[in-house]
Amino acid sequence: MKIPASLKVAGKNYKVKWDNGRIQERSLIGECDYSSCTIVLSRNDKHSVQTKESIEQVYLHELWHVIWDALGERKMKCDERLADSFTCLLHQALNSGKGELKI
Ligand SMILES: [Zn+2]
Repeated sequence: MKIPASLKVAGKNYKVKWDNGRIQERSLIGECDYSSCTIVLSRNDKHSVQTKESIEQVYLHELWHVIWDALGERKMKCDERLADSFTCLLHQALNSGKGELKI
């Protein structure tokens, strides 16, 4: 799965960037900043280097927050349990696809 350097959600241009220091200090491996339209990812947590798969799942998790925020659905945006469950399954679906259906 590719993680884009930028993307558009509801007409807003979001950046995706690495910041291994600042968010790691706060024991996070990802966060989204709605005011600056930025998704921030870390390659490490406090104890270990994140796997490619883990980083992809964190990206999808943060994208979950961005999309529900754009839709004004605060309850969904803040549901961390559902965010983890949904994005785990989404990650599996996106990465297990085989072949290509021509459009
Ligand atoms: Zn979250």
